[in-house]
Amino acid sequence: MDLGIRGKRGLVCAASKGLGRGCAEALAEAGVDLVINSRTESDITRTAEEIAAKHGVSVTPVAADIATDEGRARVLEAVGQADILVTNAGGPPPGDWRDWSRDDFIRAIDANMLSAIALMQALVPGMMERGWGRVVNITSQSVRSPIAVLGLSNTARAGLTGFVAGMSRQVAGHGVCVNNILPGIHATDRAVSLDKGVSDRQGISLEEARRQRQATIPTGTYGTPEDFGATCAFLCSQQARFIVGQNILLDGGALNVTI
Ligand code: NAP
Repeated sequence: MDLGIRGKRGLVCAASKGLGRGCAEALAEAGVDLVINSRTESDITRTAEEIAAKHGVSVTPVAADIATDEGRARVLEAVGQADILVTNAGGPPPGDWRDWSRDDFIRAIDANMLSAIALMQALVPGMMERGWGRVVNITSQSVRSPIAVLGLSNTARAGLTGFVAGMSRQVAGHGVCVNNILPGIHATDRAVSLDKGVSDRQGISLEEARRQRQATIPTGTYGTPEDFGATCAFLCSQQARFIVGQNILLDGGALNVTI
């Protein structure tokens, strides 16, 4: 399917690997010129070169921490104007609700709520002026169903979801569609580190931890960055113009709910 976005300009955050990279790859395949970001310079530079070579689009890497004002300023300077924004950052560590300090909450809220809001505040007004834009925020299935050990994530992402629910309806009349994708378990380094947490807590092997987690998913598999990227690119397409303020659960059916 031609997504109708060839030649658009996009920013994908936290994109040297995993879900962010999956989104960058799929947008590049659709012909979008990109700025991509993550903290480790060598990784983001290599990823940019690989994506540009594979898809023949322009890909500019920016090594910066997207959770900080200074990092976002450098990313935004490189972007200028964007038609497409994909917000993302690393997820907070697992733990126990009794142990989290105010600083732990602030770190999670900065990374997984306020940085996405600040990027939308910076880039969506320009999209509205030009009458076209797409924003996809990468959140988590924990928005629909809390994951006990990921309370910092449950908390921060719920805040972002509430913001998007209101703001997306205020900008849709200007041709800007803002939506969230809620990943279930996808085969990325983050999934491996969560598998390891289960293996450590239960005293079982990494393979057994993965087998147990896969058994909770009706497809019997983890999702892939390619699955995730394809959904993201569709939400950024011309065809997605009537999808506004939605939370698209991408979890292989893991959440046992009717709607
Ligand atoms: P991943 O494979 O660990 O990749 C994380 C990417 O983000 C890397 O490119 C990393 O590069 C970059 N990054 C991390 N913190 C950053 C920051 N502050 N500023 C800029 N870049 C940053 O993780 P993932 O699985 O793709 O997960 C992406 C998001 O989806 C996370 O928030 C995660 O919690 C959420 N999620 C994932 C799953 C899953 O199963 N994979 C499920 C639910 C939710 P550097 O380290 O070099 O910066």
